[in-house]
Parts: sequence; structure tokens; C-alpha cells
Amino acid sequence: MSYYLPETVDCNGDTFKVFITKEEIEARVSLLGKKLDKDFEGKRPIFIGILNGAFIFLADIMRSVSIPCEVDFMKLSSYGDEKVSSGQVTELKEIDAKVKGRHVVLVEDIVDTGLSMKYIVERMNSYDPASVSVVTLLHKKDATKHEVQIDYVGFEIPTKFVLGYGLDFAQEGRNLAQIYVLDSEQES
Ligand code: 5GP
Repeated sequence: MSYYLPETVDCNGDTFKVFITKEEIEARVSLLGKKLDKDFEGKRPIFIGILNGAFIFLADIMRSVSIPCEVDFMKLSSYGDEKVSSGQVTELKEIDAKVKGRHVVLVEDIVDTGLSMKYIVERMNSYDPASVSVVTLLHKKDATKHEVQIDYVGFEIPTKFVLGYGLDFAQEGRNLAQIYVLDSEQES
């Protein structure tokens, strides 16, 4: 399989540079998979991917665990076409799985202010699951405005706009196989 791995990429008029490489992502995802295997052994968790951004991370996480598990999806509105959060959460697709009494693992691409994840965790808890855990590939800890417990983090990153590996900028860039940051933001 070949991957789209440019050094820089022009997306909607901005130039982005490599920030987290494919190798770094693979190593981290593999480690997270091992932790999940250990923590959820015998629990048959349901991984719930938050669309659209988490689709690639979810696919890799699922393939890095070896315990019996299930998958489902929920879809929320994203940033729209901007580089800053709209401050509003809109649910575009509900989960189909029955999660009452089950161990739920929410899989997100990035937690920024925490608004979306707080909403999702509260929504999941209303279904009375056995447990709710959160795994995110990226976490902008300094951007936190809404406190939410995150159990597994791929990478803590500064408050900068990133794309690639499922994350978009105005719907472009999701097919990049690594994470990119705005060229002008990388050194600051
Ligand atoms: P929050 O609700 O935590 O403020 O934002 C979470 C959502 O905002 C993510 O699921 C993602 O869709 C979007 N987001 C936050 N930061 C970034 C970023 O740096 N790049 C991209 N492409 N999306 C982001």
C-alpha cells in the first residue's frame, strides 16, 4: 500500500508542514492498542468513532487491538470551513448500538476546547453503559475550556491548527497519512 506523504501541502490557500510523522503515529497507535487490550480484556468494548475526523484513527486503533470488540459511529458537526471552533455542537448521526451495560470507548481525532467530548460523554452516560472511556489521537491541553476526563492520549499538542490523518481544513487534507501544521505556526 502506498501513502500520501508530502513534506508540505497547500490546502485552501495555506501551506502546511509535517508535524507528526507516519512512523510516530504508528508507534503511538500500537502502544495505545496494547493498553486497550490489557484494560478491556474480557469486557468486549464497543469502540465509537466520532465522524468525520476520527475515521482513520479508529481504523488503525481497531486493527491494533486483539481482544473481541465491536464498532459503531456517531457524527457531530465540525469546525465548518474555519480554523476555529464554532462553539456549538450539533449531532448529525446518533449511534445505532445498544450500549446499556456495555463498556464504551469513544474514539476522537482531537480534543480542543473539550466542548464536543463533554457533550458526547454526557450523551453516552444517559444510555446507562457499564463504563465510558475516551481515547483521542491529539489533545490541545492548553485550549481546554470544558473539563472532560481523557483516558488515552496519542499526542499532547500546542494550540495550533493541524490537518491530515483524517483531520480536514474545509473538507480537504483528510487523506494525508501524517499530521501537518500551518507553516507559519510551526516555530512559534
Ligand atoms: P472541541 O469541541 O474540543 O473544541 O473541538 C473538537 C473538534 O474540533 C474536533 O473533533 C475537530 O473536528 C475540530 N478540531 C479541533 N482542533 C482542530 C484542528 O487543529 N484541526 C482540525 N482539522 N480540526 C480541529
